[in-house]
Amino acid sequence: MLTRRVLIAVAAMAGGALLATTASPVTAQPQTETAPDRGVYTVLGADDTAERTAVAGSGVDVLGTRDGAMTVVASPAQASSLRAIGFSLDQIGDFDAMLAERSGGQPRSAAIDEFPAGDEKYHTYAEMTAELQATARDHASLARVSSVGRSYEGRELRLIKISDNVATDENEPEVLFTCNQHAREHLTTEMCLRIVQRFTDGYDTDPAIKQLVDTREILVLPSVNPDGSEYDISGGRYKGWRKNRQGQGTDPNRNWGYKWGCCGGSSGSPSSETYRGPSAFSAPETRAVSNYVNSRVVGGRQQITAHIDFHTYSELVLWPYGYTYNDTAPGMTQTEARRFQDVGRQIARSNGYTPQQSSDLYVTDGSVNDWMWAQHKILSYTFEMYPRSGGGLSGFYPPDEVIPRETARNDAAVDTLLRAAG
Ligand SMILES: [Zn+2]
Repeated sequence: MLTRRVLIAVAAMAGGALLATTASPVTAQPQTETAPDRGVYTVLGADDTAERTAVAGSGVDVLGTRDGAMTVVASPAQASSLRAIGFSLDQIGDFDAMLAERSGGQPRSAAIDEFPAGDEKYHTYAEMTAELQATARDHASLARVSSVGRSYEGRELRLIKISDNVATDENEPEVLFTCNQHAREHLTTEMCLRIVQRFTDGYDTDPAIKQLVDTREILVLPSVNPDGSEYDISGGRYKGWRKNRQGQGTDPNRNWGYKWGCCGGSSGSPSSETYRGPSAFSAPETRAVSNYVNSRVVGGRQQITAHIDFHTYSELVLWPYGYTYNDTAPGMTQTEARRFQDVGRQIARSNGYTPQQSSDLYVTDGSVNDWMWAQHKILSYTFEMYPRSGGGLSGFYPPDEVIPRETARNDAAVDTLLRAAG
């Protein structure tokens, strides 16, 4: 352990040069579906945050982190680099083979944008749009669809507002739910659609729902990264794609404008899965969503008071800051940190997730939660949804049968946040 700590410290001081030098012949290639030889590994012994940050910072694609084991996608050179600094890696599969197996059978025609056979209950972008529009038609006094802007490829980033007197900007706390920043995390889009369905269909029959809808303005953005999610299912075959579709792709959740690129929690290499982009808000998607949030400052006061950004997987409730290991920092007092902890733990009691500060996992910079809090004092959480662990890449692609159970699992958590927003 001592040896690994020393080596990690050396790697960190060299600005990752030790890892970068060994890994560059392979990581310099664009990571596309045809990138060769990528393996899916369990990394053992990443027991503390510094060690996990060293793994995440090496350029591998971290799929999930749980109980001291990280699941990653790595090239042979990246795997060797991690072994060289003392981690032990168990290969659990081949990236492309695992994706092909999960996609099942023959690829469909590339023209067909539908989930692979058996997973059709997941919503494509067109189906999601149709559902939002049908909801607004069926509940005209409660729900209204708009757009906060367009993705890189020009898709509308649709937002649905749910409240009584929906056409009026009432003086009620606003709560924002965002989903699908990461393309392959399709279960999150279903999570947002569950929120939409519950607070509209339930309004006439459930007094608790009615009470929340009457006293809050609920804002739901089911797909922050529609280009990436459509690409991920194109041809009816999963790609394991995470980023947006701008160039080699920017990781939207490293592109937000607070402490962007500050702290070794993102990559400056366009081929990396955590590429932060050339500048903060260089991704049209994060720029559009942040502009929308900025626009909710009315009369000098930010109207949005609480937010959840849904991801998969690992079953975690995470709060800021991600850029620093410290519980408190400029803009985060002891009292504020305690509020994040209290609400986060209350949420976790209802859904069984594990609550922790984001950086307890590993350092990230340019994340949505850090910006929402630092810029606007929005009580902003990340949920990492089902499954808890295992599965490698298939952790992103649970069968569509789990959608009702794993989205309903967060009903009480969503209600808790809506109440806390008051
Ligand atoms: Zn994610």
